[in-house]
Amino acid sequence: DTLISQIAAGEVVERPSAVVKELLENAVDAGATQIDIRLENGGIRRIAISDNGCGIPPEQLQLALTRHATSKITSLDDLENVATLGFRGEALASIASVADLTLQSRTAEQPHAWQIRGNDPSRILTPSSGTQGTRVEVNELYANTPARRKFLKSEQTEYGHCAEIVRRIALAQPGIRFTLTHNGKITAQYNANNLPQRCNQILGETFSQSQLPVDLTVGEGKDKLSLNGFIGLPTASRTRGDMQYFYVNGRFVRDRLLTHAVRAAYEDVLHGNRFPVYILYLTLDPSRVDVNVHPAKIEVRFRDSRAIHHFIYQSISRILAQTME
Ligand code: ADP
Ligand code: MG
Repeated sequence: DTLISQIAAGEVVERPSAVVKELLENAVDAGATQIDIRLENGGIRRIAISDNGCGIPPEQLQLALTRHATSKITSLDDLENVATLGFRGEALASIASVADLTLQSRTAEQPHAWQIRGNDPSRILTPSSGTQGTRVEVNELYANTPARRKFLKSEQTEYGHCAEIVRRIALAQPGIRFTLTHNGKITAQYNANNLPQRCNQILGETFSQSQLPVDLTVGEGKDKLSLNGFIGLPTASRTRGDMQYFYVNGRFVRDRLLTHAVRAAYEDVLHGNRFPVYILYLTLDPSRVDVNVHPAKIEVRFRDSRAIHHFIYQSISRILAQTME
């Protein structure tokens, strides 16, 4: 692969957890109900993710590894209204340029699976065994770019980042069953559940006992704004600063505007709980938010950020104020 594409790939695939994120999003987009994640050495040696989603037809397997090939949007209009998590069509190609990637898939129509290897210049499909769905195996991340590999942290640190990505996606997809394995041992297992149970599994009992439900909607049609989820009441025990999950249209985001709105409500009503625990899902018309600002897609940009800030601040303040009465 060319140097340019390896540099570009580095921006999308900066560490094993970025690979895990892209592969999990593809599995979610494919409608999977069960996803298995197997990591070795923090994902540096191997990341293998299999799902039971719709699969990729054999005639599209080569295309799936081609940069800017996506089956998810077909026009610029679609870009305004992306409903899927992926849409750039660069993840698999980028990963394949910095690791040894094997893609195996089987649709409902195929009698067996087919597989293709990213670094095989002829890109030949070979028949293989496998049930319906897709399995992506990524071996030896950055083996060919030692400078980049040197920047990876310890195996345990990289594993921690991967596990956090799994938690983020599992919290957005309570109906999907996830199994995470590290070096042959199961480290996390989330059974298909409803949201409160999934929150309980991931955020722990303490949060679940003190949580306040959030379920508010304003406006109608294209102006409709909904905020759902749970916010934690401050407890005697200090809460961790990283138990803050915000989703916009199902996508995990870390956004200053949103964080500020929640924090300001806590500060104004409760006077200084610095690390509120929360899991919030904002839903709005896709045309009101631009998710295309960053390749890692963790930032968003709102068309009417003041209205969004106001809605969140008001919603959280009202719920907190009610419980204080
Ligand atoms: P994007 O997700 O932005 O479309 P990707 O490079 O991540 O781009 O994937 C390229 C294409 O490969 C997708 O558009 C989809 O058609 C197909 N694909 C990738 N992973 C899966 C999967 N797990 N199940 C079904 N199809 C997949
Ligand atoms: Mg994708």
